[in-house]
Amino acid sequence: MVKEIACRKCKTLTISRICPNCKSKDLNPNWSGLVIIIDVDSSQIAKILNIEKPGRYALKVR
Ligand SMILES: [Zn+2]
Repeated sequence: MVKEIACRKCKTLTISRICPNCKSKDLNPNWSGLVIIIDVDSSQIAKILNIEKPGRYALKVR
């Protein structure tokens, strides 16, 4: 299994070198807490983390 890295700006998880969401290259492999957002509108976690799109995110990024 490929280790995913997390974007430090928007917390999106990716296996590429550039964040597919915000195009940031500021990515960090030291993250914890996988968050899967399916429905942004009904998710409290999405509101707390300021997530606007469904997807897989890290809860904490160092
Ligand atoms: Zn990002």
